[in-house]
Amino acid sequence: MRQIAIYGKGGIGKSTISSNLSMALRERGLAVMQVGCDPKRDSTRSLTGGRMIPTVLETLRDQLRAGRDQSAVTLTDIVFTGDGGVHCVESGGPEPGVGCAGRGVLTALEILKSLRAFETYGVDVVVYDILGDVVCGGFAQPIRAGFAEEIYLLCSGSFMSLYAANNIAKGIRRLARIGQVGLSGVICNSSGDEAFEQQMLSEFAAKLGSRLIHVVPRSPVIQACEVEGRTVLEHSPGSAEADVFRGLAQAVLANSSRVIPTPLEEVEELEALYRRHMPGAAATRSASADATTAQPRDRRQAGRTVDRGPAA
Ligand code: ADP
Ligand code: MG
Repeated sequence: MRQIAIYGKGGIGKSTISSNLSMALRERGLAVMQVGCDPKRDSTRSLTGGRMIPTVLETLRDQLRAGRDQSAVTLTDIVFTGDGGVHCVESGGPEPGVGCAGRGVLTALEILKSLRAFETYGVDVVVYDILGDVVCGGFAQPIRAGFAEEIYLLCSGSFMSLYAANNIAKGIRRLARIGQVGLSGVICNSSGDEAFEQQMLSEFAAKLGSRLIHVVPRSPVIQACEVEGRTVLEHSPGSAEADVFRGLAQAVLANSSRVIPTPLEEVEELEALYRRHMPGAAATRSASADATTAQPRDRRQAGRTVDRGPAA
């Protein structure tokens, strides 16, 4: 069984990419389970016809409230199979304002394990869709507990997506075990400028000791399918976008790399990497070279809106 995890900043497109990847794997005849590990619980919505399924933690809370214990939760309460055949689970989260989301996700994963969910459904591939911009370490629970094994970082063309991915890579470095759990690659979910993103993310991935494995274009087709509560593979199977996701599934299946990542230590290094590839980078560099004589406006153009002050 392969256990693939998609990590990245909130809103970057993890659920979109995870659902279409799951469906593309399913299309190849594999038994697939997608586990949404985000209290937002909308990971599998496109696999279930737009339905938000009950979450593991919510189901557990209902049983506890009724005076029963965890053993009262059954697989049929928490695993829902969409029309396309992907088995779907949502971890859910603690009640808002109470408890730790990471701990909650781990509880949900442990329930799946104790119910032998993967064996029961004969799962070939598990796809975990994991919110990764939580700094508390909760995001790392699926790695720590041996669930997420092949980890992909999802990035776009935005600097903050890179910043989040680099932080996640620092977490992975701490938990990776050679041969078992590691970084398998970077996936680009484009914000529009694919040529820039391809170059910039290839260099970023190489710095991490890994590879950019696939680029998903920004596309209105993807959004049109989302509003119908369907994956692109089900709703527009003949589209170029569906083929992109088939290509992603192929790339993921063919990729056996799991490295201990080597993240950039300082945010300045990450900024420099990003700037090097920015469209109009030459103009930005010359403004930067003139920084001693430049007006404040030129400094802003050089990408420095905050004065760092003297080093401590
Ligand atoms: P996350 O799970 O990381 O929070 P989502 O998958 O929910 O992010 O995506 C956030 C929004 O961005 C969704 O409305 C989705 O339709 C849109 N989106 C994601 N990827 C693309 C894309 N490649 N092209 C167009 N829209 C996209
Ligand atoms: Mg999501």
